[in-house]
Amino acid sequence: MTDKCFVGVDLGGTNIKAGCITADAEILSKISVPTEGERGQEHVIGRICGAVDSVLEGAGRPRDLVGGVGIGFPGTLDIKAGVVRYPANIPGCRNIPVVQRVRERTGFPVLLENDANAAAYAEYWVGAARDAGSMVMLTLGTGVGGGIVIDGKVLHGNTDCAGELGHMIIEVNGRKCGCGKWGCLEAYASATSLVKRFAEAVQAGHLTVLADHFKTGGKVSARDIYEAAIGGDEVSCRLFRETGSYLGMGIVNIMHTLNPARIVLSGGMIAAGDLLMRPIREMVEARALSDAQRNCEVIFAALGEDAGLLGAAGCALAEFGTSR
Ligand SMILES: [Zn+2]
Repeated sequence: MTDKCFVGVDLGGTNIKAGCITADAEILSKISVPTEGERGQEHVIGRICGAVDSVLEGAGRPRDLVGGVGIGFPGTLDIKAGVVRYPANIPGCRNIPVVQRVRERTGFPVLLENDANAAAYAEYWVGAARDAGSMVMLTLGTGVGGGIVIDGKVLHGNTDCAGELGHMIIEVNGRKCGCGKWGCLEAYASATSLVKRFAEAVQAGHLTVLADHFKTGGKVSARDIYEAAIGGDEVSCRLFRETGSYLGMGIVNIMHTLNPARIVLSGGMIAAGDLLMRPIREMVEARALSDAQRNCEVIFAALGEDAGLLGAAGCALAEFGTSR
């Protein structure tokens, strides 16, 4: 195992998180600073480099013991070129040569990875899919993200958009998705869609304990719907059952396409626990080919919020580390 450390950067819409991480995934130091994407790409690159310097200082690691920097970036990427074609969080910017710029300013080897792929890699490396060989992760938050690791390698596909699992179509002529198309998994299984479907149920006159709060202009979150469901609210229970069934359908498609050893669910929605997992398991049992579901575990993620920076560092280790 190399004695070098690796810096992982997780570039979110709100915050840039960075960590200095050893080859056995110990986080020596970490930091979170506002992204300030509205101030443009030069500013964001400056903040990434500043965060890298800060975590190295925090960890007390000399620069010659740094093996590389991994950056998890949301948006449309050209990974081989190290370019972010359409960043998801820097308005108006195109074709940012992130790898070249951060390498010039820090002097370290730099790797670019899609942020959801990086988080999936972390669960493969040291999380819920450790030792699984191949795994797929679905992140259920305001949208639905995905990442695929096959035989230890992140699957990028021909144009770096493999793993866009939130946009697999699960309903012909289905609900409108954030991507502009229809019937995508994201339009059924994200927290945003849960809240939207809840609002539609109330407007359609379905009785729910949250109706008064909602009708008087109160905001209803996915968590409120979860708590109502735990309390026995029928509409909320039905919405979670539906969400789980659609997710189960997506998971069956993943099993049949990739035959992974583990499918990991992460993101805010997994707080719903069994409410979500039960209908998923029912759908998988009913609809997946027996060979595809055999030895394939569907489980919740283990790493939480640090997955992005851990995975970015892990990808840098895999690329630039001498050995594991
Ligand atoms: Zn979509």
